[in-house]
Amino acid sequence: MIPSVSPTKKEVKAVDFSIDNALYHLKQISQKPHHTGTEEHKIVQEYLVQELKKLGLKPEIQYQTAINKKWRAATTAENILARIKGSDSSKALLLLSHYDSNPHSSLGASDAGSGVVTILEGVRAYLAANKTPKNDVIILFSDAEELGLLGAQAFVENHHWAKDVGLVLNFEARGSGGSSYMLMETNGKNKTLLSEFLKANPNYPAANSLMYGVYKKLPNDTDLTIFREKGNINGFNFAFIDDHFDYHTEQDSYERLNRETLLHQADYLTSTLNYFADADLTNLNSDTDYIYVNFPFTKLLTYPFSWVLPMLIIALVIFIALVFIGISRKKITTIGMLKGFIPYIISLVVCIGVSYGLWRLLLIIHPQYTDILHGFTYNGHQYIIAFVFLNLWLIFKTYSFFKEHRTTDLLIAPITFGLIVNYLIYINLPGAGFLIIPVYASLFILAILLLMNIKKESRGTLFAILSIPTIYMVAPMVQLFPVALGLKMLLISAVLLVLLFGFMLPVFQQEKLKNGWQSLTGFVALLFFVLATFNSGFSIEKKKPNSLVFIQDSDTNTSYWASHNKTLDGYTKQFFNEDSPQGGQNLIAGNSKYNTSFNYYKKANNKDIATSNININKDTIISGKRNISFSIVPTRTIDRYELFTASKITLTNLTINGTLYDSGKAFTADKGTLLIYQMANTDKDLTISFSIDKNVKPDITLHEISNDLLSHPKFTIKPRSEIMMPMPFVVNDAIICTRKLKL
Ligand SMILES: [Zn+2]
Repeated sequence: MIPSVSPTKKEVKAVDFSIDNALYHLKQISQKPHHTGTEEHKIVQEYLVQELKKLGLKPEIQYQTAINKKWRAATTAENILARIKGSDSSKALLLLSHYDSNPHSSLGASDAGSGVVTILEGVRAYLAANKTPKNDVIILFSDAEELGLLGAQAFVENHHWAKDVGLVLNFEARGSGGSSYMLMETNGKNKTLLSEFLKANPNYPAANSLMYGVYKKLPNDTDLTIFREKGNINGFNFAFIDDHFDYHTEQDSYERLNRETLLHQADYLTSTLNYFADADLTNLNSDTDYIYVNFPFTKLLTYPFSWVLPMLIIALVIFIALVFIGISRKKITTIGMLKGFIPYIISLVVCIGVSYGLWRLLLIIHPQYTDILHGFTYNGHQYIIAFVFLNLWLIFKTYSFFKEHRTTDLLIAPITFGLIVNYLIYINLPGAGFLIIPVYASLFILAILLLMNIKKESRGTLFAILSIPTIYMVAPMVQLFPVALGLKMLLISAVLLVLLFGFMLPVFQQEKLKNGWQSLTGFVALLFFVLATFNSGFSIEKKKPNSLVFIQDSDTNTSYWASHNKTLDGYTKQFFNEDSPQGGQNLIAGNSKYNTSFNYYKKANNKDIATSNININKDTIISGKRNISFSIVPTRTIDRYELFTASKITLTNLTINGTLYDSGKAFTADKGTLLIYQMANTDKDLTISFSIDKNVKPDITLHEISNDLLSHPKFTIKPRSEIMMPMPFVVNDAIICTRKLKL
């Protein structure tokens, strides 16, 4: 879809987006992990500030402690902000991406360095054309997105520019390649946003209202969510999600970011910046939702949600009429029609069962796959192809027992299922309403079979042409579900494949093709299963994620080694063997967060790691309320403090490092996580104060976490080999000191 461009191409006019410039910046800002609180974070921040200055802008840093209620996460975020003055300034356009990487090992090249450099280079090209925008354009490189969208929250809640924003364009990544998808974020309906997006005229819009519908139903989490929830501000997300296995790892690197994916982001930025800089941003709300989908010969096919039901009813009426015509012309028989359901239902059941069962079996054969927490293995794309062709083979095999049946009889079952699926879509997920179009294509084919006498030889070609929209819409989804949601979704692909096959049945039923198809699909399936098995191991390019932590319980003076891995390797075998206990329950008292996921653990020799000082600044009781203020002061470098409560607790006037939570309103936490505080570069300690019912005795456990296990002088640990990397999503290579807070 996207033209390939060599990254060494030099002849770029100053007013055009230069991928070389973008890549140059990316290389500078993705050399090392640069999550909030690290020295490298400061270096990246300084680099971006200098680059914004070179564009003639006056960047500033917003320092603000932010507390996210949903995630119970907090830090002092350092947002980078700059503003281009517009000629009208009724509403501002906000360009957004986050510059912090994920703790602790991600290089953050795709996530979200790619977004930052797309904006940086896009703005340079825009300003080089000497244009003055109508709207103010605000650039926000947000901080601490990875810790709980904290920079975005700091901006929306505390920065005086936030109220000016009319629209946000957010650039994100959840992998290192593939198409970038446009997702709208709005409290209202999508009609105006969609039509404005089409007016911006990106060259390669990849979007559909099915994703929009699913995204709206899921508890989603990007910076844009904060703008929508807290500011009622509309926005567009542009995010790529393929090669998920790189996400939040040290493989999220400059080298591995797909160049065409970056160009796709650049195309979105260039077209939307040019358009929305001058567009009316005061009225983007609407009360109508639209279906949209990528369609042949047009960028996006669009029509209102209100058409979904009438289109379904009309399809049903045509279907019933065609069945009667077929019966009266003796091209369909009642018994043949009913028998036609047998192979279709068998195909559905067998494909779903085999896809589910075989994937479970593969996880047993290759237990190392379970250590890739993304749920998408390095050979995942090979498995997708293998499963697709295996399912096709199963379908062809099933239908080969029904060779003698007429195509017209067999086509009734898939159309019936197509109508049922579309009814369920109408009820539950109208955004997927475009799936009625393949039903119309099949009805058209059925009508031709019933009403016209076309030579057998020409039929195959004609039906194939009529099926193009069907393939165009359904085939990408077969791949999209496992890519987006993990290989466990291969069974959804199986369902889509049976639907796709059914709609196209007359194409495959042509005499000449029948036998050839089956052997071909069987061969391709086998080939890709062999290929996937061959690629099931790890290598320098496909590193094995592994994890190790040292836990010191400072109250009982006991220590443990623990790992999240299900399979051991040279790194973890320094401490565990196959006989080491598994499960790791109750390793950390008062904490349910890791117990479920630690696998191997083992008692360790005590290392007497120094713990933080707890200073009580205030402890008074006034009219039934106890007011406490205390500081946790590190005696060594601490990356993160985590507080857990053993029972439900309600705090009022909660203040964290000087910032009052939600105007002093009640902060209630159930048993479990109370607060996760990432120590930022500006933090000397963590000071917490709150009021609590004087009869309630807080039962709080503190974790002091430092990511220095590999460099700490009290430990000698053989580093990972070059085919391993730190496991993402978990606290890793860390020393965790745990103890009860005496309050
Ligand atoms: Zn991100």
